[in-house]
Amino acid sequence: MTASLRSPDLHRLPARLADGREIVYFDETADPVRVLDDPRDLPVVVPASQARYDALTGDWVGIAGHRQTRTYHPPADACPLCPSTPANASEIPSPDYDVVVFENRFPSFGGAGEPVPADPQDRGSFVAAPGNGRCEVVCFTPDHTALFSRLPPRRVRTVIEAWVDRTEALSAQPGIEQVFCFENRGAEIGVTLAHPHGQIYGYPFVTPRTSAMLRTVAEHRRRTGRNLFDDVLAGELADGSRVVAGNRHWAAFVPFAARWPVEVHLYPRRRVPDLAALDDAERDALALLYLEVLRRMEGVFADTLPAISAWHQAPVRQGRDDWGLHLEIFSIRRAVGKLKYLAGSESAMGAFINDIAPEAAAERLRQVVVPAPEVDGADVDGADSGGADVGGADVGGADVGGGGPDGPVRDGQGGRAETPRDEEERR
Ligand SMILES: [Zn+2]
Repeated sequence: MTASLRSPDLHRLPARLADGREIVYFDETADPVRVLDDPRDLPVVVPASQARYDALTGDWVGIAGHRQTRTYHPPADACPLCPSTPANASEIPSPDYDVVVFENRFPSFGGAGEPVPADPQDRGSFVAAPGNGRCEVVCFTPDHTALFSRLPPRRVRTVIEAWVDRTEALSAQPGIEQVFCFENRGAEIGVTLAHPHGQIYGYPFVTPRTSAMLRTVAEHRRRTGRNLFDDVLAGELADGSRVVAGNRHWAAFVPFAARWPVEVHLYPRRRVPDLAALDDAERDALALLYLEVLRRMEGVFADTLPAISAWHQAPVRQGRDDWGLHLEIFSIRRAVGKLKYLAGSESAMGAFINDIAPEAAAERLRQVVVPAPEVDGADVDGADSGGADVGGADVGGADVGGGGPDGPVRDGQGGRAETPRDEEERR
């Protein structure tokens, strides 16, 4: 029996904010001090968003005109995501928390009701629907200056439990067709609050990128009888040149057609539709690999790494059997002090031009030296890389290093990845 990273005392504690919004604490200790009454006098924000159908592309667009007044870069002592103090009544009434989720006060989608109509093309020229759905904020830590990549593995494990809880809750809310857990990191990405946090959107429609993937997945099934996500993962592991890291339950690679200068996808080795379907060992292994990949990505440039982490989960009501949960992490950083902007080709045509070959990007990520996460001595199933073969024995023995001498190897204690550069330095 192996111990889990999951706190044995982990529990959820729901409450309401002053304007009726839901807040849920995910606490790692049995009896934390939590203030469940919100003392603020808050006006109720009535979401007035719409979903409008773009007849030319078939995509739905959210129109949320009420969000212009939202909090924009507040000073640190007025942070709405820090625990409350006598001087700062924040969005979290308690003096402390571990992980907390609450409804966004200025949501892009809000209200329970119908999803968008399934037949918009049959409804005339200008088809709009209420922007029903849910937008939530996930605070990863009460520490205003923390970096996600430096959180203890146990905290990341709690964040995963929060994602699972919200995925299940939002999937059950009438009108929500897709649940998207994500994090925008860094001011360059447009983050208006510095406090480490992510977001969860419950959309009243299936998003354009997911719709595109559903079509290719169905087409692949029809043509080959196989699952596209399975084939992509098996192909990347067999090729190996873009594999960055992995453990018993997960693999991380730069995708063959990477769109961004720093981009890594994380796939569970067992295909599941969404986060809720991951078992305990897979959630543990995810916490560790996610931390490692973030640190590798941050190590590429001696610079802050503005980045987006995006969970691709199966839609609530369609394509679930053939969907493969995965995480896509990417950065707009292309060099120290330089950003890749989405200009004409990308923004207008959706045609990305990447300035670095994905194989070179993967090699750059493998070269980053990453210390092993501290796991409080827990023997976590799946954390063990199984020796030098980080790719894992259960997927054709693919070696994460690309099968050559250029890849990283692990020391015998499952410690930090060692790169050829280390070896050179020892000589
Ligand atoms: Zn803060």
